[in-house]
Amino acid sequence: MATRLTKIVATLGPVSGSKTVIRNLVAKGVNIFRLNLSHGDHETVRQWIQWIREAEKERHTFIGVLLDLQGPKIRVGKFEQGSIHLKRGQRVVFTTEKKVGSPSLVPVQYMHFHKEVDIGNRIYLDDGKLSGVVKGISGQRVEVEILVGGTLSDHKGLNLPDACLSADPITAKDKKDLKFGIQEGVDLVALSFVGSAKDVQRLRGMIRKEGGKGVEVIAKIERKQAVENLEEIVEAADGVMVARGDLGIEISLTEVPVVQQRILREGAKHSKPVIVATQMLESMIENSRPTRAEVSDVASAVMDCADAVMLSGETAVGKHAVAAVGVMVETALTTEAYMAESKMIEPWNRFFKEDPSINAGITYSANRMVELLHAKAMVIFTLSGGTAKMVASPKPMVPIFSFTSSLQRARLLNLVRGAVPFLVEEDRHLLLHIEEIITMLKNKRLVKKGDRVVVTTGIPVNIPNWTNVIRVEEVP
Ligand code: PEP
Repeated sequence: MATRLTKIVATLGPVSGSKTVIRNLVAKGVNIFRLNLSHGDHETVRQWIQWIREAEKERHTFIGVLLDLQGPKIRVGKFEQGSIHLKRGQRVVFTTEKKVGSPSLVPVQYMHFHKEVDIGNRIYLDDGKLSGVVKGISGQRVEVEILVGGTLSDHKGLNLPDACLSADPITAKDKKDLKFGIQEGVDLVALSFVGSAKDVQRLRGMIRKEGGKGVEVIAKIERKQAVENLEEIVEAADGVMVARGDLGIEISLTEVPVVQQRILREGAKHSKPVIVATQMLESMIENSRPTRAEVSDVASAVMDCADAVMLSGETAVGKHAVAAVGVMVETALTTEAYMAESKMIEPWNRFFKEDPSINAGITYSANRMVELLHAKAMVIFTLSGGTAKMVASPKPMVPIFSFTSSLQRARLLNLVRGAVPFLVEEDRHLLLHIEEIITMLKNKRLVKKGDRVVVTTGIPVNIPNWTNVIRVEEVP
């Protein structure tokens, strides 16, 4: 069977936070688990991480754990009856006073809300399902006219796309969650509502202070400001997420596909993995089969060479969590087979810089070699993961068998398109062991007799991001 190139990220939640479901999700093909602390407290999440590590061992594989920091997500408070119904044209008061909500009063849990909104600003509620416009402000009370009504229940999200918010993207809760996550050995941390490269650098500093050596930072692109500062954010982060949920409210919904393309291009240009997230198979929260449009959405992300596609509610609270992963696996494999057959990717032309480094020249040439010689795989050694990301960025249509001496790195490689991690002892000189490696790949049926394999490595060995050799092998 072909090796799937596109990786799958699945969010854990109440329906999937059990040993059995985690095991089934891994068996089905999940590469990275996203832990969103709005779905569980520290004790619960600690247990989930333990089950992930057990499942990883049982299946002799590598699984990455991504802690998603909630950031300054604005939420409404609680209502007397758990929810209220808002009608179009109705005027309601949104307040930062510590009050329980009623049919005409909506408590807001962001203390600067009344100071940072203006008359005429739009307000979106519950992922944009409801909306309103600010008509008046008096002290802590903001009068809002409802434009699109519906049911608003406790703690639903609130977005203010027109306001310039002063909220720090790293909240006090995030700091506690980060400390917890680092202690529990998460591999990646995602930062919500990033505005600039500085936010990413601050988080990196905090991770370092907590002792999170090697932990990677994923910047979630979900604000207009992040789209404006895209290039510096991509450069500063280790990877990015197209967080289409909030993005689809913070910018015009019809712009989201274009921004997705821009993020994917920027990621490839800077050799940073990109995750396409949110509502990919949303209807599977309820239904056992997705819609045609949803499958097309996943296939489009695969054709655009996203490193990973992500499931949120589908695996956190959905009725068909394991089946949703199955749909992603099948869609990715079918689409990738078509891409390989139709040669729709021309790797060496894409995003090639005018004045490349030796690494870039070698990794792009290795990609070209794969095409010219119809090679079936690439083999690399990667110390920091940088070589894998570079080799992957021209988007080869073959697996990149990536040898590393670090368990954490092996787990992190799970986010890189096409990278298949293998853990080896320290100081391995790839070229001295190449026969052994090819035999192992052959025994695992990952390559077969007569296949050509393009090998890249760096000499001298053990210098991060140093690649200066290409060699081609034929499987004996
Ligand atoms: C999103 O907004 O698309 C997203 C992934 O973030 P969250 O699920 O944390 O809201």
